[in-house]
Amino acid sequence: MSATQPILQPRMPKSWYKANKPHLFCPGCGHGMVLKALGEAIDELGIQSKTIFGCDIGCSLLAWNFLDVDSTQTHHGRTTPVMVGIKRANPELVTVAYMGDGGGYAIGSQHTVNAAIRNEKITVILVNNTNYGMTGGQMAPTTLPGQRTETTPYGRDPEETGYPTRGPEMIAAIAPEGAYVARGTVANLRQLKGYIKKALENQMAGRGFSFVEALSLCPTNWRTNAKDTWAFLEGKMAQYFPVGELRVPKQKEE
Ligand code: SF4
Repeated sequence: MSATQPILQPRMPKSWYKANKPHLFCPGCGHGMVLKALGEAIDELGIQSKTIFGCDIGCSLLAWNFLDVDSTQTHHGRTTPVMVGIKRANPELVTVAYMGDGGGYAIGSQHTVNAAIRNEKITVILVNNTNYGMTGGQMAPTTLPGQRTETTPYGRDPEETGYPTRGPEMIAAIAPEGAYVARGTVANLRQLKGYIKKALENQMAGRGFSFVEALSLCPTNWRTNAKDTWAFLEGKMAQYFPVGELRVPKQKEE
């Protein structure tokens, strides 16, 4: 990539709802970057008019009117089954379930697992920032060993609370043939957009469940300055949660 080439387009995606900007996320939050990658992927695939966006509770709900597409907001981990229902009733639509690590790996983990096992033809985008952001920074399923949160003031002790959930690895192990599974990061938006685009294309081709986890930033609850925020993401998080594609389905001859 040329040094002068932008990471993503310098303008807002066509599929963003412009009247709702600036957005409601904290300064330095990673959600806006994930949504920018998603917006550009929708633009490039030309699917704005047939995309349905569902977001969960928690900070991810602040995305409810971020995109200029038909949207729905659900409670506490229920975005996945709602999007499954919409997709089953309207197979021609492209459904995106957007959630945090708490929604997808804790209170909604059964939906994540069952949708993956059933190979539901939806796309899940899960934002991993290692804590419950909206409620003040409590320990989440993805909190790293030793990481301090509001509920682990001396650092997470895996002997007491278990080890962090590695979601894409779990889903790659249980999903049937046809599933697409990847983990990206807001530290590499071009790559993250590529993964999201492949996940949407996989759904559109009717191959199977498509899942992308995005490593993201929460400087408010990490209580970090800009330098330490990126150092945590690119250092400790990326080390524990390796970025890359875990399942890429074989494409049938068209
Ligand atoms: S609390 Fe964290 S995840 Fe939530 S909007 Fe603020 S920075 Fe983003």
